[in-house]
Amino acid sequence: MLKIDCLVSGGIITNYKCTSICKHCCYSCSPKWPDDYMTSAMADEIFSILRSLGCYQVHIGGGEPLLKPDKILDVLDAARKNNIEIEYIETNSSWYRDETSTNDILKELKKHGVNTLLISIDPFHNEYIPFWKVKALIKACSKAGMNVFPWLMEFWDDIDAMDDKKPHSLDEYKQLFGHDYMMKLLKKYGLNLKGRALKTYKPIMKKQTFEQILKESKPCKLLSGIYHFHIDLYGNFIPQSCPGFSIPLRELVHGVDPRKYRIFNSLESVGIRGFLELAAKEYGYKPKEEYAGKCDLCYDMRNYLVLELGLGPSDLNPVNHYKQV
Ligand code: SF4
Ligand code: SF4
Repeated sequence: MLKIDCLVSGGIITNYKCTSICKHCCYSCSPKWPDDYMTSAMADEIFSILRSLGCYQVHIGGGEPLLKPDKILDVLDAARKNNIEIEYIETNSSWYRDETSTNDILKELKKHGVNTLLISIDPFHNEYIPFWKVKALIKACSKAGMNVFPWLMEFWDDIDAMDDKKPHSLDEYKQLFGHDYMMKLLKKYGLNLKGRALKTYKPIMKKQTFEQILKESKPCKLLSGIYHFHIDLYGNFIPQSCPGFSIPLRELVHGVDPRKYRIFNSLESVGIRGFLELAAKEYGYKPKEEYAGKCDLCYDMRNYLVLELGLGPSDLNPVNHYKQV
């Protein structure tokens, strides 16, 4: 039985919709996702379950959680009601307009128990957000007494070498810092190569034969990990490191029949070999000769099931994770 008895640290995804289409986004967020936000009732249910599982603090991420700042206030109230501390809200700074409106938003967030913003600072985000907005938001936070968790300061000088009035493509970075810049980014950032990040890096990743991957198959235990999980706006548990899978949190707490979530279960209990057997036998998946590792094979099968076969409600959710890559 798939069951979760305890959760330690994780995040809440209040919306998948985002202003940007970052090439390193493992959730494949973009402006094309539905304009859906976590409701107050859903937040209340999630926080109450988290509390019962021993998780007393979370961060909030997205999508861009402050895309519509007023949408997050009810979520913050629900956290407070359930005694859940908000460690920080992640933001890409896109919503910065001017000092006055930003100060109003920051004051409102502070009133609702938020004391830290994690502000994204890297060339991937800079493809969509001009750096002046990031700098202005940091300044506004300092004035409003909001702590800043800069992620990552290591990239500051690279970004600051460009004109901060406009966004800059990764090609511009490659021209300035060398053609191996994408690999340097990968090493410096420690990216999770899933979703759109996998698509971006796949062409330069080392390939493995299909047989080699199967030989090394072992259970993907991170799927049931109690650290770095996310719960999304639909109340789904998104496992550590592996977006594109989801099981309702309320089901996981009581124990889920593995036969209901067979793909998740095959990977968690057997590994990529188990998923391949299922996909080949029951859905007619035909493997290719080589892949950029086991997660590439995993995505190839998931894409086949979701995008080509249009697999109905299953553990491969949300469907936009596959469509918006
Ligand atoms: S990385 Fe962040 S800002 Fe970029 S698309 Fe994903 S959610 Fe949006
Ligand atoms: S093979 Fe699939 S489930 Fe396992 S780690 Fe990779 S993406 Fe996650």
